[in-house]
Amino acid sequence: QEDVFKKIVSHCKEYGFVFPSSDIYDGLAAVYDYGQNGVELKNNIKQYWWQSMVLLHSNIVGIDASIFMHPTVWKASGHVDAFNDPLIDNRDSKKRYRADNLIEDQIGKYEEKIAKEVAKAAKKFGDSFDEAKFRETNPRVLENQKKRDELHARYTEAMQGPDLEALKQIILDEEITDPISGTKNWTDVRQFNLMFSTEVGASAEATNKIYLRPETAQGIFVNFLNVQKTGRMKLPFGICQIGKAFRNEIVARQFVFRMREFEQMEMQFFCQPGTEMKWFEYWKKHRLAWHEALGMGDENYRFHDHEKLAHYANAATDIEFHMPFGFKEVEGIHSRTDFDLSQHEKFSGRQIKYFDPERNESYTPYDVETSIGVDRMFLSVMCHSYTEEQLENGSSRVVLKLPEPLAPVKCAVLPLVNKDGLPEKAQEIVNSLKFHFNTHMEAKDSIGKRYRRQDAIGTPFCVTVDGDTLNDNTVTLRYRDSMKQERVPVEKLRGIIEDRVSI
Ligand code: ATP
Repeated sequence: QEDVFKKIVSHCKEYGFVFPSSDIYDGLAAVYDYGQNGVELKNNIKQYWWQSMVLLHSNIVGIDASIFMHPTVWKASGHVDAFNDPLIDNRDSKKRYRADNLIEDQIGKYEEKIAKEVAKAAKKFGDSFDEAKFRETNPRVLENQKKRDELHARYTEAMQGPDLEALKQIILDEEITDPISGTKNWTDVRQFNLMFSTEVGASAEATNKIYLRPETAQGIFVNFLNVQKTGRMKLPFGICQIGKAFRNEIVARQFVFRMREFEQMEMQFFCQPGTEMKWFEYWKKHRLAWHEALGMGDENYRFHDHEKLAHYANAATDIEFHMPFGFKEVEGIHSRTDFDLSQHEKFSGRQIKYFDPERNESYTPYDVETSIGVDRMFLSVMCHSYTEEQLENGSSRVVLKLPEPLAPVKCAVLPLVNKDGLPEKAQEIVNSLKFHFNTHMEAKDSIGKRYRRQDAIGTPFCVTVDGDTLNDNTVTLRYRDSMKQERVPVEKLRGIIEDRVSI
């Protein structure tokens, strides 16, 4: 699985999806740039989200707030005091780690041991294997399950607070070693604030420390009154936003999964107090359906309900996707109560309430948030789509089986030879399609090579123009996944393709 992931990362670079930031200077850790194909895929993801949230709901609107915000916003939200991760260093390797990650990896090791035992037995016993019974009776499995459960319980308790000494003690007791130096030479655990700060103001005396927003949510909360009043919004209603967020992550891991600069698509849904659980359940279902509608396999998603809740939440769940490195959070759904609006009321001194004309009273709405990372969504799409196929003729191909509406290029028009009027005809076809969906022309190289290149960037349709096209205005339409080809009249192309690629 790790090998596959490495291949996906290099495929992203080779085919213009994702480049390391400042590549000619050897990159910058945990920062990436999207290339010519990556930006199209990412834009399509954002459009797919925006349409389903904002355009299809009459009670949801969008905004685009600034990255810089008044510094008090982050005091009110709790980020200045509490947006921390527990940090630990290894004295030998001089590497920094998140103490919680080290312990979670250790829990994962027990799980791996269990999975190995189960797989071994399944192979040995074949069809007669009863996995549930094996898990209940095998001594090695039972021992590892016990260790895992005990560690999990200790860890969950230590993370409350969090208790930094207890976290360190777990690392010592479990004899967790540094993955690089292999030693157990750990420092104490300390808190590390994830917000980036900078200064505004030109003169030294007048400078003011401000933060780069670590989430887009607060831009929505501070605009609650503006939008509600100017849009004459009635509860329940939602405000959406897509934008950059910045976190000084201690350890950058897994490519665009955890970056220091990333993009979020968030919605805050404001409702009457007491109805928030109904809306929490509604958005859980709705958001999972949104993911599933892309056709990447319902079995690749699961909810992970939080047992331990943030101070502002009364319910929280993650939607996880099956990445090559396990089920991982792509989206969070949180019932945030009236915490944020109340805090901003307290810190700003402004009354932030909703006047309910039916109840003839004012109150602070409750809020349910859906927050998805564009980059993690991008990664899940890439991981799911990357396929290596052995073909019947003995050759192989790499094909990105992207959901068709998300593909960067929808249609490639390929003149069979680069002469005899074929490129001109191909260009004419491109011109008739390019206003409707992203259509490219490619004339160089053999047709086989051009098909492979389009497969590698996930183009769902290739249209080949040959000598017959000039006589009867038909072309060969090739389907990416099945590689089936059919002859179709040029005037039918738009309809066939549009039917399958529109978001
Ligand atoms: P994690 O536990 O993985 O750090 P989180 O629970 O802190 O994530 P939230 O604060 O709920 O994440 O943010 C909402 C979404 O933003 C996440 O589900 C994820 O998709 C995305 N996200 C958060 N941090 C990052 C990051 N460093 N890089 C890329 N995407 C991120």
